[in-house]
Amino acid sequence: MQEPDIHCPHCAWRPPGRSRWWCAPRTGGCSTLWNTFWTGGVCPGCAYRWEITACLACKRFAPHRDWYHWPEPASEAREAEREGTA
Ligand SMILES: [Zn+2]
Ligand SMILES: [Zn+2]
Repeated sequence: MQEPDIHCPHCAWRPPGRSRWWCAPRTGGCSTLWNTFWTGGVCPGCAYRWEITACLACKRFAPHRDWYHWPEPASEAREAEREGTA
């Protein structure tokens, strides 16, 4: 099983392990600070699942799942290349 590459879908920023996200009280959160990619977007304080994740670099929001970039099978990658040059 391959590991996904985790980066911002907007600016390609890769969150280092020391990055922290805030379970924002103004949207009903519990103020916990944690690394959201360790828990798949689930707050360890209140178990709320954050469907969107803010980028700490470009300050934009993206669906949490869009941060995970799974490596494509080699055959599919070649297919896309052919289409690109056709
Ligand atoms: Zn919380
Ligand atoms: Zn970003």
